[in-house]
Amino acid sequence: MIYASIAFAIFLLVVVAVKYLAPTPKGCPQCGQGRVDDHPLCTNCGWIFDVDDEDDDDGPHESESESELPWST
Ligand SMILES: [Zn+2]
Repeated sequence: MIYASIAFAIFLLVVVAVKYLAPTPKGCPQCGQGRVDDHPLCTNCGWIFDVDDEDDDDGPHESESESELPWST
């Protein structure tokens, strides 16, 4: 029955591969125009692309979470 587990593993690999290799829309999801390299907005219709905010992790929300801890009272 080892072939069953091997087949299942291959099946999982295929699913993951299809998931990652599936054609993702590179352009604007609204008007379909290709995205200009680093432009955060669609140059045609103004669609806002998903921007990777790397600075978002250490934002100014640290003090807020500290003051609202339920066990701090
Ligand atoms: Zn667009």
